[in-house]
Amino acid sequence: MRLDAKYAIRCPNCGSHAERHHLLDSQLTRTQCPTCDYLMVTCSRTGNVIEAYSPGLYGYPH
Ligand SMILES: [Zn+2]
Repeated sequence: MRLDAKYAIRCPNCGSHAERHHLLDSQLTRTQCPTCDYLMVTCSRTGNVIEAYSPGLYGYPH
């Protein structure tokens, strides 16, 4: 049984379509944008940021 939940969101970095995964067994939330390589992993229990990567705005065409 697959517990992970996936949501379509807007990337907070570039505004393109991104995905947010809730990894329920590890209590992590992973936000990933394929357009700008934005990555954010937070603990959904404590809200702590586990890993974050923001490439910045380089004028990617939308
Ligand atoms: Zn993005």
